Amino acid sequence: MSGWRRGARRDARVYDSVVRRRLVALALVAGIVSPALAAPPRLVLLGTAGGPTPKRTRAAPAQALEVDGTVYVVDCGNGVGRQMALAGLPFPGLRHVFLTHQHSDHDADLVTLPLLAWAAGNEGTVTLHGPGPMRRAVRAGLRAHAFDIETRMKDEGRPDLRKLLSVQAVPQGGLVLDQGRVRVTAARVDHPPIEEAFAYRFDVAGWSVVISGDTAPSQNLVGLARGADVLVHEVLLADAAEVARWLEKPPEHPLVQHVLRSHTSFHDVGRIAREAGVGTLVLSHFVPGDAPVDKDAVLAEIRKSFHGKVVFGEDLMVLTPD
Ligand SMILES: [Zn+2]
Ligand SMILES: [Zn+2]
Repeated sequence: MSGWRRGARRDARVYDSVVRRRLVALALVAGIVSPALAAPPRLVLLGTAGGPTPKRTRAAPAQALEVDGTVYVVDCGNGVGRQMALAGLPFPGLRHVFLTHQHSDHDADLVTLPLLAWAAGNEGTVTLHGPGPMRRAVRAGLRAHAFDIETRMKDEGRPDLRKLLSVQAVPQGGLVLDQGRVRVTAARVDHPPIEEAFAYRFDVAGWSVVISGDTAPSQNLVGLARGADVLVHEVLLADAAEVARWLEKPPEHPLVQHVLRSHTSFHDVGRIAREAGVGTLVLSHFVPGDAPVDKDAVLAEIRKSFHGKVVFGEDLMVLTPD
């Protein structure tokens, strides 16, 4: 089969799945099908690299949960909109964005994502949940795009995006969103020097997914992830000497010290998954993000403490309930 045909078939499959999910979402709203008969929720790893430098092999950090046509995004690394398009996620379904913290690998597209979703036809409200200071960044981002927003309002008859975006600060963690079928809770994690760094837990119709964000080993994260089906956890794949070598800095350099004290090594991530008692550990936010992963070595280390399922995350990987 030619590459063109294979591509066309894949596009058709993505299109079919998008259409099917939208029909189910419409039917749910109309009460034609019950939630029990709806398509299962799906978690899509949109970007699995850590660190702000754009990478060749992995996109910047972002995840999406799609539930009955509604899209919940966690983190907005650069290019998250493009990754959503590749995953076949519907832009008009974007309703909630959860930011783990304000490092640019996680928030470069915080305003760009709702802006582009709006330009792609999203006329619904989008709530941005995250650290309090995010409010200033969102206001500034909207000001930066005022020309485009006002031009499209006049020229294309679109609603005012500034009235469709709201910001909800997550002060200490705890319950962030409760829609019945979808419940989101947060916990503060340890990512010095950033004070407001959060992990998020989604409970969706009996399926639970936790996104760690960036964190050193954190007991708050262990508590949040207790008994979860899926834990997506960041991972540092290098020891201290390797981090210094890879960053081409002396071991005492602030950047080397930041990487070591603010992230979770592959030596620790299995213990965290075991303590939390999760079913599946998904490794993501790989640091370094553009190097081949020695899966055997990492898995051997994790297997010293964790015996559940281990998944090495890849961009556009999809996870669904078993
Ligand atoms: Zn990061
Ligand atoms: Zn960070």
